[in-house]
Amino acid sequence: MKLLRLPLYTKILIGLLAGVIFGILANRFGFSDFVFNYIKPIGSAFIRLISMVVVPLVFASLLVGTASLNDIRKLGRIGVKTVAYYLCTTAIAITIGLLLANAFRPGAGLSEQAQKRLIQNSSGAVGVQVETALEKPTLTDILLNIIPTNPVKAFVEGKMLQIIFFALLTGICLSLISSERSRPVINFFEGVNEVVIQMVHIIMKIAPYGVFALISAVITDFGLDILFILLKYSTVVIVGLVLHAVVIYSLAIKLLGKQKIATFFRGIRPAQLIAFSTGSSSATLPVTMECTEKNLGVPREICSFALPLGATVNMNGTALYQGVSAVFIAQVYGMGLTMGQQLAIVLTATLASIGTAGTPAAGVMTLAIVLRSIGVPLEGIAIILGVERILDMCRTVVNITGDASCAVIVASTERELQEPLANSIKD
Ligand code: ASP
Repeated sequence: MKLLRLPLYTKILIGLLAGVIFGILANRFGFSDFVFNYIKPIGSAFIRLISMVVVPLVFASLLVGTASLNDIRKLGRIGVKTVAYYLCTTAIAITIGLLLANAFRPGAGLSEQAQKRLIQNSSGAVGVQVETALEKPTLTDILLNIIPTNPVKAFVEGKMLQIIFFALLTGICLSLISSERSRPVINFFEGVNEVVIQMVHIIMKIAPYGVFALISAVITDFGLDILFILLKYSTVVIVGLVLHAVVIYSLAIKLLGKQKIATFFRGIRPAQLIAFSTGSSSATLPVTMECTEKNLGVPREICSFALPLGATVNMNGTALYQGVSAVFIAQVYGMGLTMGQQLAIVLTATLASIGTAGTPAAGVMTLAIVLRSIGVPLEGIAIILGVERILDMCRTVVNITGDASCAVIVASTERELQEPLANSIKD
């Protein structure tokens, strides 16, 4: 009985630990098929459920938020603050990654044999995936692509930036027409918004089971051994991520957000656990929004602007990971990187992380862009694929934490940060 009354994040944590143990057992005692056939689908169902609400949630909440702002100058101010924070923290994240990778040199001094073994151990499909990543459009194309030629198509294909653009414009225009005309539309979308948020509440009830299923499938698939092979490299990435999350976000929350650091990290914890087990900022978005609004006291209109945008373009964890990975791969190949090349990493990893979709393993694809800019062999990506999944899970946690910290800071500088509610998402 007591177990049922535990806060949600504790239940999710229990699900996660139980998933690890179950995965190790399945891997050891050979009942992997059982996990893949019967347990994994529960995890997939959970991901599908939270992904299902992303498009309606982003559109309805952004539209209602913008329409209710009634002040285009305020929207502009929030927009500039959000983008500036995202760009600065991304650059800081990459710099931390580069400093650590240069200081600890995780890829240096490998024997040729070990190098060959690492490459052999990795998946052969990498070549194709890298080719696809390199077909990425230019910056102009990326910017032009924000404008949908057909909004319905953008919805169908889940093109986040296009949906955000269309929602913003619709919201702005609603605030420009007569309230007699705009009120029914806004009322309708307020209703939609409430319904979707209610859905998130219901879906979160099964989160502990979803997390259990997802984690046990990952551990069953890879086993723990593979995680040890690239221990040094993974440790540098993880230490960097922890440093960034603890030092940079704490400073930002304390100095700019004027919120208690403990309140922030406690409030965002449920979303972090979902980010860890799904490896997707986009899929986590409904939970991030719920936690940021209810547990951190950020008004809905700021959440619904900063968070969907952040889940799409702000990837601090991914940027840091790309910085470390680029230097690591160069070290494995015995290449020294000049100051100019390191600077190129900062620039390209910023762009690459912006272009990274908030989906699992997207960051390793866009890493190709960074490697190419500094002339490091793309095949190097194969070396790190073995630990990709676990690092993806960790960097996604940082990605969504960065989004939430931005929302808190924007709300605080707008003097709109409220006392957190009674932590409703936890119960
Ligand atoms: N999985 C990450 C995210 O959704 C993106 C990445 O692959 O780095 O935030």
